[in-house]
Formats: sequence, C-alpha cells, structure tokens
Amino acid sequence: MAIERVISADSGPDKEEQFNNVLRPKRLSEVVGQKNVVEKLSIAIAAAKKRGEPLEHILFYGPPGLGKTTLANVIANEMNAAIRVSSGPALTKQGDVMGLLSNISTGDILFIDEIHRLSALVEEFIYPAMEDFKVDFTVDSGLHAKTINFPLKRFTLIGATTRAGLLSAPLRGRFGMLYHLEFYTTDELTHILRRSAQMLELAYEVGTLEKIASRSRGTPRVANRLLKRVRDYAQVKGVGKLTSQIVDSSLKMERIDELGLDELDRSFLKALIQIYNGGPAGIEAIAATLGEERDTLEDVVEPYLLQIGFVRRTRRGREVTRAACEHLGLTMPQQKAQELPQPELFEEPQ
Ligand code: ADP
Repeated sequence: MAIERVISADSGPDKEEQFNNVLRPKRLSEVVGQKNVVEKLSIAIAAAKKRGEPLEHILFYGPPGLGKTTLANVIANEMNAAIRVSSGPALTKQGDVMGLLSNISTGDILFIDEIHRLSALVEEFIYPAMEDFKVDFTVDSGLHAKTINFPLKRFTLIGATTRAGLLSAPLRGRFGMLYHLEFYTTDELTHILRRSAQMLELAYEVGTLEKIASRSRGTPRVANRLLKRVRDYAQVKGVGKLTSQIVDSSLKMERIDELGLDELDRSFLKALIQIYNGGPAGIEAIAATLGEERDTLEDVVEPYLLQIGFVRRTRRGREVTRAACEHLGLTMPQQKAQELPQPELFEEPQ
C-alpha cells in the first residue's frame, strides 16, 4: 500500500486548496524568493502594459508546490486580467478547449496545469490558438465533417509542468518565456511562514518558524502544510502558541526528520541501499518495491533527494550517496567494483 505523506507536494483535497488560496500572494511584490523569475516577469509585465498588449505565453516548470499556480494568479492580478484555470488531463477533447477559448476576452489568461499531460490531439488543436489566435474546429464527423476557422481574442497561455522534458518540442517552442522554479532557501521559507502565521493569527516563539522552514524540503506548500499541522498540535496539546517543544513533538509525530525527510523518502533510500545494494536501480523497479507510483517518486521524492545530494541519477539508474547512508545511520554498500557495465539496451532514458 502506498505510504501516506504529510509532505506530499500535491495540492491534496479541496479544503487544503482553500487553505492554499488564502495564503497565496496576490501581487508580485508579495512573492517571496524566485528573484530571477520575479525580476524578469516584472519587466515583461511593465513592458506589455506600456504597449497595451497581452503578455507572451509563459511556461513555468519545476517540482510541485513551488509556486507555479501562484505566479499565474499573480500575473493575472498584475495585468488586471481574468484567469481561467484548467489542466492537461481535464482537456480531453477539442470541445473542452473551445469551451474555454471561445468566450475569452483580449488579454485574459488561460492557465493549464500539468500541461505535459495534454493529449496529442488537443495539443495540436492548441498550436494555431497560441500562434495565430485562431482555431480550426471540426464539427460532425465522417462524411459530414466540416472544419470551421474560428478567430480568437489575443490571450496569454500560462502552462505549468513538473516535467518540462515531457513537453513536445513544438509545444515548448510556442512559449515566449520559460521559467524554471527553484527550491527555496530556509530564510525564504521562514519569510513565507511569518506571513502565513500572521494571516492565521498564530502566536509563535522565536526560532520556531525557522525550525519548520528547515524541514520543509525547500517547498512553500510543504512549509504551509507543516505550519497547519503544528498549529493543530499546539491547539490540542498546548495553549495554541508555537513553542520549540511543540514544533519538535509535532514533527516527530509526523515522522519528519531534521532534514525534512519523511517515511517515503526514507523508504526510497532504504530500498536503494538494502535491496539494490546502493544502486544503480531503475525507477520502475524502486516504484514496484515500494508499491508507489513512478510519477510520485519522480515528481515529489527524487527532486529534493537529488538537490540535497542523497541520490544521483546516472545513465544506468539511481544511486545512493554516502551522505544518505550516514544520515540514515546505515553502512554504505560495498560498490560492486568488478561488476560489468550493463548493456546499453537496458539503459533508462534520463
Ligand atoms: P505549484 O502550482 O507549483 O504546485 P502553488 O502555486 O500551488 O504551487 O503553491 C503552493 C502554495 O505555496 C501556495 O498556496 C502559496 O501559499 C505558497 N507559495 C508558493 N510560492 C510562494 C511564494 N513565492 N511566496 C509565498 N508563498 C508561496
């Protein structure tokens, strides 16, 4: 059975989405971190406003929970534009896209999350919409099929993806601006938590927010989620105020360690060390061992383990590092020095 995680960076159930919406920055000046992206965006927005033109299409990519949806909403606010939100898996037919595009006004924003999951059919339908602001819509089928050329208002498409590599080259090429979102520093996450605590009217002792931030895997969504868990704990076990001891006990109960790793991270590393002798091991094999989706491991677990240098991705699969073994208190498996390289045929695409 899949391991339930407190720190999965998925947006999770609706209630959590409402919580996220409350805490979402509304203006560019409120966005913490991502300096490079924010700077470029503010120039692009100012220039587009000056010319009285819509923005070019924008692609945000990076692990979940780093602010792609937030930035799309911030851009809409800054441009005084309406935003329509959908996602790759939700747009299955041309008609779904037509529904969104046909009543869009000039300058409006269409946000498509998980854009790498658009079907080939829908993707091709979107190309002329992005490039020439028109679509060729097919009505009826078979002998009676007719293609209607439908002009659109100039809009801005904002795509978000955790996997830029899965985007087809023609789709990627139609975005004027591509921005990679990076993990946040502990200072930046503390700043975000300070704002969240203020909005939630939560009292806290000095140093407690830093502690939560340092265990949030560089991810604002995780930081806010942990804050919520710690707040609940403080209300039940304490007097509502975050103290160092409350934070420690609450995170211990959630089984989150000093580096912010949870059960699934540790299981991933332990499988690599104890079952695959430190690797290299293919992601499919690790996913099967853990009973987890490959996508969850690639989108949520691996990026942070790579970032902190606990895992290496090689052409032959994933390998664990000495630092990871030390963190878990396990001995580094003896590298099979004599092992012959595996044949190319079995190499995994990176
Ligand atoms: P993504 O779309 O990349 O999965 P979101 O935009 O949904 O991530 O961000 C998750 C949550 O994290 C938001 O609700 C917001 O509260 C917080 N957040 C993300 N980025 C920032 C940021 N730069 N500054 C402040 N809060 C942020």
